[in-house]
Amino acid sequence: MEKGNISVQAENIFPIIKKFLYSDHDIFLRELVSNAVDATTKVKAIAAKGDLKGELGETQIEILIDKDAKTLTIKDRGIGMSEAEVKKYLNEVAFSSAEDFMKKFENESIIGHFGLGFYSAFMVADKVEVITKSYKKTVKAVKWTCKGDPTFTLEPDSKKDRGTEIVLHISEDSVEFLEDSRIAELLNKYCQFLPIPIKFGTKEESTWEGEGDEKQEIKTEVDNIINNTTPAWTKKPASLKDEDYKAFYQELYPYSPEPLFWIHLNIDFPFDLTGILYFPKLNNSLEVQKNKIQLYSNQVFVTDDVKEIVPEFLTLLHGVIDSSDIPLNVSRSYLQSDSNVKKITSYITKKVADKLKSLFKKDREAYESKWDEIGVFVKYGMISEEKFYEKATNFALLKSEDAQFATLEEYKEKVKDIQKDKNGKIVYIYSNNVKEQHSFIQSAKSAGYNVLLMDNVIDNHFMQHLEYKDQEIRFVRVDAETADQLIPKEDTRDSVMSEKDQEKVKELFTTAINNSSTTIDMKPLSPEDHPIVITRPEFMRRMQEMQSLQGMSPEGMGDFFNVVINSNHPLVAEKLVKMKSKEKKDKFALYLYDLARLNQNLLKGEELSSFIKNSLEFVK
Ligand code: ADP
Repeated sequence: MEKGNISVQAENIFPIIKKFLYSDHDIFLRELVSNAVDATTKVKAIAAKGDLKGELGETQIEILIDKDAKTLTIKDRGIGMSEAEVKKYLNEVAFSSAEDFMKKFENESIIGHFGLGFYSAFMVADKVEVITKSYKKTVKAVKWTCKGDPTFTLEPDSKKDRGTEIVLHISEDSVEFLEDSRIAELLNKYCQFLPIPIKFGTKEESTWEGEGDEKQEIKTEVDNIINNTTPAWTKKPASLKDEDYKAFYQELYPYSPEPLFWIHLNIDFPFDLTGILYFPKLNNSLEVQKNKIQLYSNQVFVTDDVKEIVPEFLTLLHGVIDSSDIPLNVSRSYLQSDSNVKKITSYITKKVADKLKSLFKKDREAYESKWDEIGVFVKYGMISEEKFYEKATNFALLKSEDAQFATLEEYKEKVKDIQKDKNGKIVYIYSNNVKEQHSFIQSAKSAGYNVLLMDNVIDNHFMQHLEYKDQEIRFVRVDAETADQLIPKEDTRDSVMSEKDQEKVKELFTTAINNSSTTIDMKPLSPEDHPIVITRPEFMRRMQEMQSLQGMSPEGMGDFFNVVINSNHPLVAEKLVKMKSKEKKDKFALYLYDLARLNQNLLKGEELSSFIKNSLEFVK
């Protein structure tokens, strides 16, 4: 038996490995199984070239728990190692890479945690044995033992078959890794799509034999293979049907509602990337989606935190990205400036935009019917990614309150003549609540205007962004002005009331309403219009919305209203003006004001009941 020291500087590394990544020490299993997969892939490649003497035989990897011996074993039928290779790979290569890794990442949070490799076994074991036999027939088997200190032993072993067994003697504080359920959980998390079958125990499978009354269930014990070695993203898109994509979605996220559609990513130059991204049903919300995109490297699960690789708006999507070109064992800040990562990000953005464009071109009706769901996503993308904005102008839609759709360009064309104001700006009128703003919408429509429906969580930002991108347009909410002033044109109508009478009426209302955040205006609207219209000026309302978004109390600013008195309405111009008693005038002014508030759903509770009582006087 040979004894030796791994390295002179090794004293410090084992305690660090043990403590390191405490919350994440379950990665040891991924590291060891990945090594087993690599060794197996290599021996298969050798066999494929005809360079393997003897049979390739079974190649599955096996995970074994021995509760009595307190061991967890990872056993493969890969290339194995000779004595010289054990010394080289385990004592030098693996050790120095673990050491490098510790040095680099002691103080940094990292994305993949790849690279700690073989030595991560010491996070959970106080003794590790490696029993290995090379695929080369004449080379003898060896056993390497290390007790989590810098000394190791190396001795001959009687192992007959090719491959490597890693035996972990699980330490007292890691006994959880002797539980079947815990190991099953880890295998499911990290190894679900590894390319070599992984066996973990057995399971019962039942088949039926015989016919009719004779029919009986036959139960057999079969290997429990925990992984799907050929997940959908590794296959050629042409070989997959819709059902296959949907089934894979269920495999990733069991019991989720069906996705709307998907994109199969497949590129090998200038970087390697495969994957499938699914568009989920978003239901008008930007809630954090629990089905996150999963990142793989050669089918090994790395993380479901893909923020640095995928532009933020695309994190609303679900699915899988697999790339061996994303550096996994580097810091986040490095990742952001990595040129491969940048290329991958813009590739994915482009693919997503192309997909949406082709869906729009191919079947516009179907696309429109899905707009309520994909709209959030597209708008979010347009606001946050300049490149996506440019592409999205081809397929982003505006929806009118009567459920008509138009692209940005089509819409501009549609309203540009009628809805141009006196300063040459095209005014886009919108509603964010069809019920509450019903009477405003009707007035705007009878004035010949189109009203957009902008009731999405993201629409305020989206409109602001469109105004910024296209200086020719501006948005105004349908209740921001009286219908004839939504799009201010040159004044044409005269007032039937004298200036003096108007002054008096204005003053009357000012004292009657007596509210500092309400302004009062006299305007010569049409006699058919309401006597009083209460509007919410666009600018003040947006300021207020911004403040409440920033967490400032909206009460600070109060609700701003503009009370417009129609100086051409007979109830104002004649009835009110002609009233004799001051008391009656005040009452009537308040009555008209409350009537307008009632009309706009602003009158509630107690105010409403007292209004009904007081109004009896004026209703005949
Ligand atoms: P990495 O896998 O990143 O090279 P590791 O520390 O995990 O680093 O492993 C070091 C080396 O040990 C591997 O490169 C490989 O040559 C060898 N090795 C580890 N596990 C096995 C195994 N199961 N079968 C054959 N060789 C192995």
